[in-house]
Amino acid sequence: MKEMEKRHPVLWIVIPCYNEQAVLPITAPMFLEKITQLTQDGLISDESRILFVNDGSKDKTWEIIGSLAESDPHFLGIAQSRNRGHQNAVLAGLMTAKDYCDITISIDCDGQDDINAMDEMVKQYLDGCEIVYGVRSRRDTDTWFKRVTAESFYKLMNDMGTEVVYNHADYRLVSSRVLQAFSDYHEVNLFLRGMFPLVGFKSTSVFYARHERIAGESHYPLSKMLGLALDGITSMSTKPIRLITGFGCLVALISFIGVIWSIAAHFMGAAVAGWSSMVCILCFLGGIQLLGIGVIGEYVGKTYMETKKRPRYIISEKTWDDPDKKDMLIG
Ligand code: UDP
Ligand code: MG
Repeated sequence: MKEMEKRHPVLWIVIPCYNEQAVLPITAPMFLEKITQLTQDGLISDESRILFVNDGSKDKTWEIIGSLAESDPHFLGIAQSRNRGHQNAVLAGLMTAKDYCDITISIDCDGQDDINAMDEMVKQYLDGCEIVYGVRSRRDTDTWFKRVTAESFYKLMNDMGTEVVYNHADYRLVSSRVLQAFSDYHEVNLFLRGMFPLVGFKSTSVFYARHERIAGESHYPLSKMLGLALDGITSMSTKPIRLITGFGCLVALISFIGVIWSIAAHFMGAAVAGWSSMVCILCFLGGIQLLGIGVIGEYVGKTYMETKKRPRYIISEKTWDDPDKKDMLIG
């Protein structure tokens, strides 16, 4: 056991890729260089690997991953059977990696996250942390709009009762021990950055400056970001329903006062019905009701998806043979 603890940890870097043919040939050698340097520095084992997860790309991404895997044994690839989105791709990679390694680091493939933060992440792991969150120290390279929307997103998340690490996306080190525990979280509505804090274990943060995308385009337009925010809140917290209940009570109380007031006005002979106030109240209540139904509907929809228990990822191809494992991996 002592022997086991002393050896260098095997690191698997998990990289989701969707239509990244422009950026992959540039960043892949950078990841390889990083692994080599970490190995030379005596921080990780030479058994460490770089695992690309092709998320149903429509361009040449999978071909590029295939030729990378042929060119160097450190490169590996798995392919999802179709595009399932970033969170599912990361999950597929992490769940595959956990059986082969001691630690994983998930990172985007576009070079925006500073790979040099990995040194500190691994050191923190060696010091006893099981989860190390990569946190953006500044957002100079983001547009004003992205910065404001992203920061309000983190604030809103925390206000809504979801524990997220401020300015942390999906660049993080997670030990296979944590992933083993995490594999018991079966939910299909994935919001990984909010789920890992729930698993517990000793964790810390490492700060880094975020760069601009090296090539290619972002796959997260505003609509997708809003979707992620909504998913994040509703899959992690029921506070919005509470808020609606609270608001409903408040409106009911005000209505009750309104009723007494209108009856009193009737008997005092001062009941001249105001059309504008009627319309305002009607519109207001109608709007609030629709909003309330919408929010509750969001939860009903989530429950619906959860009860189906559909697989969260289906791995259709791998760049390596593994006699112990079935060809298709579903989880
Ligand atoms: N990605 C993915 N599936 C998708 C969309 C994106 O695997 O459906 C990957 C993408 O290849 C990248 C990462 O998720 O490695 C983050 O995407 P992107 O850089 O476009 O987002 P941004 O950094 O602009 O928020
Ligand atoms: Mg990016």
